[in-house]
Amino acid sequence: MNKPLSGAELNELVSGLHKLSRNLWWSWNQEAQDFFYELSPRGWQNMFHNAVAVLREVSEQELRARLQDVHFAARVRAVLSDFQNYLGDQKTWCHLHAARLHQHPVAYFSAEFGFHESLPISAGGLGILAGDHAKSASDLGLGFVGLGLFYREGYFQQSIDSNNWQTEYYNPIDPHNVPLEPVLDADGERLVCSVGIGMNAVDFQVWRVNVGRVPVFLLDTNLPQNEQRFRDLTTRVYGGDSITRIMQEILLGIGGVRLLRTLGIEPSTFHMNEGHAAFLTLELLREKIAAGSNFAAAQIATKQECHFTTHTPVEAGHDRFTPDLMNYALQRFLGQLPVPFNDLMAMGRVNPANASEPFCMTVLALKFSRAANAVSELHGVVSREMWQPLYPGKTIDQVPIGHITNGIHLLGWMKGPVRTFWRTKLTDSTNGAARFFRDKFGADWSSAINHADFWDKMTDPTFVTDEELWALRYKLRRELIEFARRKLLLQNQRATQGDFIRFDHFLNPDALTIGFARRFATYKRAPLIFQQFENIVKLVRDKQRPVQFVFAGKAHPRDNDGKRFIQQIIHLSKHSELAGNLIFLENYDIHVARQMVSGCDIWLNNPRRPLEASGTSGMKTGCHGGMNLSILDGWWREGFDGQNGFGIGPDSHPDNVAEQDRVDSANLYRTLTEQVVPMFYNRDVNGIPREWLKRMRHSMATLVPQFTTDRMVKEYTNKYYLPK
Ligand SMILES: *Cc1c(COP(=O)(O)O)cnc(C)c1O
Repeated sequence: MNKPLSGAELNELVSGLHKLSRNLWWSWNQEAQDFFYELSPRGWQNMFHNAVAVLREVSEQELRARLQDVHFAARVRAVLSDFQNYLGDQKTWCHLHAARLHQHPVAYFSAEFGFHESLPISAGGLGILAGDHAKSASDLGLGFVGLGLFYREGYFQQSIDSNNWQTEYYNPIDPHNVPLEPVLDADGERLVCSVGIGMNAVDFQVWRVNVGRVPVFLLDTNLPQNEQRFRDLTTRVYGGDSITRIMQEILLGIGGVRLLRTLGIEPSTFHMNEGHAAFLTLELLREKIAAGSNFAAAQIATKQECHFTTHTPVEAGHDRFTPDLMNYALQRFLGQLPVPFNDLMAMGRVNPANASEPFCMTVLALKFSRAANAVSELHGVVSREMWQPLYPGKTIDQVPIGHITNGIHLLGWMKGPVRTFWRTKLTDSTNGAARFFRDKFGADWSSAINHADFWDKMTDPTFVTDEELWALRYKLRRELIEFARRKLLLQNQRATQGDFIRFDHFLNPDALTIGFARRFATYKRAPLIFQQFENIVKLVRDKQRPVQFVFAGKAHPRDNDGKRFIQQIIHLSKHSELAGNLIFLENYDIHVARQMVSGCDIWLNNPRRPLEASGTSGMKTGCHGGMNLSILDGWWREGFDGQNGFGIGPDSHPDNVAEQDRVDSANLYRTLTEQVVPMFYNRDVNGIPREWLKRMRHSMATLVPQFTTDRMVKEYTNKYYLPK
């Protein structure tokens, strides 16, 4: 008979659970998510799968009572023990390869971080990448701190009005209800720092996000002592005009460095993720000059400390500020930095002598970094060409911008049932092919999963059979379709009983399912496939070999062209012959993304080349057995080997935009009808698409271990963080 837990044991589990809930480690640990879900299934579902919110929903009394279920308590205890081991691990990759960064960490500055759907402070790919960078930094044991802003209304939520037009609304984030902790000073009071913005000293408080082993600090000016316009600075992600923008960037760059100094953190590298954080270089200059350096020496020393990653392959995408705005926003700070205003402006100009050139954050970042990189090979080529004028005397090839291709945090993106699927495979003692991994990695399946050796096994049918893989694909496709039906019902506020049944006939669980979800920036060309409308209708209506489409994505609030694309697609989904086989899911976020990248058989990507610097959503599909159908742009140009998915068109593109659209749409349709559809429906007597599965295995083996932030952060460390 089992003894009831003692009061002391209960206290320990309860406090362990509270600590765990405030560390995002649970967002990539399935066992932890399982018991938070069980504590309050509806709370979990309604409150964005958020462990903190679940523990607020469940009373202390209930929690203690539930923990008297010995099986439940045993599971909690096992996860808490894994969590402690994770936090205390002294044998990480960085302990072996980059131990000196523990004393002097990398300070990673980003205007957005996308960690989890409960903390929606990211607008898209840039933020998701930053969040995944932090998670892998934690897994690898890197000396790392993140710096960002706490937007209390986050990024907008999307709803669609009766004209199929996107409208935006904001849900205030309650910091006490999400995985955040206030940062306190030595006396246990809220830590408050200050930064000069405009003519004012603006105070800010700080929230700490625990991302496994690493902290990310989010700055927040919403304090009663600040004027309202400064309190509002951190309300929304990119929510304002250029005045708000420059002030947010002063807070992030200059405020971020001030915070690190207050906390006694002495970074070895200041990594600017995109130009938004580049004002940090001015604060480093100021510090050095205040400590007695002359300007030239301070400049050299600052440059030694900084690294810059550029993400934007279009000129117009780089932040630029007029001299008036610079003068206005930096007024107080300029009183502390003994550099004439014209010299300051020159730091952000390609041609320092050109007084009519605005101040460009990317130029500042490039001038004050010891190294810089783009985010894919092709983006490296484009960036070197774009910034060549900044390096007179150097040829394009000599422009010092390298590249590290982006990745994803694999376990974070893997859907629950897929984590369980691979874990079961790895720990199945009857599977001879899995023994290798147990010998090599012991019980730690989570590091095996990042290993190329594991994904190499995908081509071995004794490790996993076609039948198992096909069963998994069916399960994931069905889960997406049921998710979509439920969501369509919720989206349609005037739904009646009849709609309930109607929506349950939307989408076909046997049909080839093609997904497209991303920001509706026009260069991503969401409606491209419908240029061949009559042909697409034929594909969708084909009784033997039907195709269906799931779309999602947000347009920037001021991007009416993007909103027209959304309107056009929703209109088709309601009023054309595609109705029921083309759907649009509202409010694309991390959760919707995870449903889609796992459930779709094909992930469609058709940007105008070379504007997709890298793209990451396609990387999320591989571990779920989905495959990419994509233009050879960004990461896919490197990933595609002819056999591990599907390419649209050749590795080149016409310069003329209209011509490119026409050619790409024809190539897209051709690949779809000549390769994708026939292969998916080519079945053996048992209904298994052998050739499709062969390609899928090859996709997993070649792409999944390559396009991770595990690989990416190691590359940053070896190439940029360690050498100095
Ligand atoms: C992955 C992801 C992105 C980035 O995807 P791209 O392929 O770069 O467009 C954007 N938003 C969300 C919610 C994501 O999950």
